[in-house]
Amino acid sequence: MRNKPWAIDYLESNAHIVDVNNTYSKKIKTFFDKDQPIHIEVGTGMGIFITTLAQQNPEINYVGIEIDKNVMIRVTEKVLELGLSNVRLLLLDANTLMDYFNENEVDKVYLNFSDPWPKVRHAKRRLTHSRFLSSYKQLLKKDSIVEFKTDNRGLFEFSLISMNAFGMTFENLNLDVHDDEPKENIRTEYEEKFSQRGHKIYWIQASF
Ligand code: SAM
Repeated sequence: MRNKPWAIDYLESNAHIVDVNNTYSKKIKTFFDKDQPIHIEVGTGMGIFITTLAQQNPEINYVGIEIDKNVMIRVTEKVLELGLSNVRLLLLDANTLMDYFNENEVDKVYLNFSDPWPKVRHAKRRLTHSRFLSSYKQLLKKDSIVEFKTDNRGLFEFSLISMNAFGMTFENLNLDVHDDEPKENIRTEYEEKFSQRGHKIYWIQASF
């Protein structure tokens, strides 16, 4: 995505939707109008997934976490357009999740088409590496679910091994989501793109 020099100014002018400066760190509940269960998506991208879910589930508060300020503009625009009061966005690196959230605060984590980081020396950057799983375990309530979707077979296999080694339980697995696609599946931007190229979409739900 092209760099937009005005990105931070734009995001800061929408501080009721996007937290750019960790204002709601350790008090995320106060960012929302209603006190409801919190679901987070790490690596939100342009936001089709989280805004669609939020429209379908007004009784859930959704937090979109995105590191890229230029990408964050797009999801902010969607939240504004749709007037969603149950989506709030954090311009945040997932490495710092536990500086931001309290323990046992979140009911579900979504990871969609996370960057695969194919080089072995970059494995620690994969959002299903044990150091991220450790953060999700801390911020999630007991028995909560991590839901992960990708077209990348290498990342999927790595994630299965990583989650298994971490002691997670696999609750559901689908090795070809678009073959007999469940009606509740929400296609993300990357999902649509890779599906059109004929890639299979893998999906897993796992708990700690
Ligand atoms: N989830 C979207 C989808 O399925 O269309 C976007 C997928 S895109 C491949 C991965 C996204 O994760 C990018 O927008 C990237 O900026 C974001 N991301 C990567 N590493 C991150 C990190 N450490 N913390 C937060 N976001 C991150």
